[in-house]
Amino acid sequence: VNVFFRPVEKIAAVLETYPKGIAGFRRYTEFLHTEPDIVDAPNAVPVDRLTGAIAFRDVRFGYRAGRPVLQGIDLEVRPGETVAFVGPSGAGKTTICSLVPRFYDVTGGAILIDGIDIRQMRLADLRRRIGVVQQDVFLFSGTIRENIAYGRLDATEGEIVSALRRARLEETVAALPEGLDTVVGERGVKLSGGQKQRLSIARMFLKDPDILILDEATSALDTETERLIQASLTELAEGRTSLVIAHRLSTIRHADRIAVIEAGRIVETGSHAELLRAGGPYRRLIEAQEVVLGANDGALPPRRSP
Ligand code: ATP
Repeated sequence: VNVFFRPVEKIAAVLETYPKGIAGFRRYTEFLHTEPDIVDAPNAVPVDRLTGAIAFRDVRFGYRAGRPVLQGIDLEVRPGETVAFVGPSGAGKTTICSLVPRFYDVTGGAILIDGIDIRQMRLADLRRRIGVVQQDVFLFSGTIRENIAYGRLDATEGEIVSALRRARLEETVAALPEGLDTVVGERGVKLSGGQKQRLSIARMFLKDPDILILDEATSALDTETERLIQASLTELAEGRTSLVIAHRLSTIRHADRIAVIEAGRIVETGSHAELLRAGGPYRRLIEAQEVVLGANDGALPPRRSP
């Protein structure tokens, strides 16, 4: 499945800091709510900045009793590191990532950030420090400015413009009749898929999270759009710990580390070069993808002939 949070109510969970002033939007997020049993622990610790060290310790999880999806995930992610999760559809890549902002709680083991079990952290603080860039961008009816600043009502004009620039969206917005005050969505200007994605990236620059979760788009974008998005994502990931549900070879190759997931387990970790050399599950996956993509972009050195 290619949507980061399949149930639509999960959208609400990332909107923890929605602006109260935007009409309709609050009602929307109140209507859609997060899992009712995910609440603050009695003595939940407030957290401010995180260094973003994430430890998965024997993490187990299933959406339904008796149907385990994650069967013991162990992984230590270093502050600032980019880890790409790859593996067949349904392996559990999305599920692993959705446990970090506590869209669900683990059913066994624990996830620690900076050494603290995330169930002991104040939920609002945890989610404020984590940014999620989804494939399906959620825009509400309002101006571009409102859509970018929804989590940061105090954002200054300068901050918004800087976020636009870093998201490679400045020229697009400048070309619109009302600029930042152009209404988008249902009753306004329709944005293209690539523009919407860049808008969500601009939001993230403004949110400035310590941990980034990126559900990479599977949909094809034209080369220029793809290039712009890659460039802005690279800039966004700088200095943050990033977990990527990766679908693109270019992203995977540039990750610090790759974790190959199969049936709810990590079967291999390493860099692109290491895993290719190992000639295991990763190599097979990439070879299969090369066939699907129909192009060898140089990622695969030729196998040595026997
Ligand atoms: P893809 O590459 O297709 O996105 P994935 O590796 O991200 O796949 P997950 O989306 O994490 O895999 O799904 C793992 C398993 O959990 C699958 O069997 C899936 O059907 C199931 N699953 C995912 N979300 C839910 C949900 N909200 N409720 C019930 N089962 C779910």
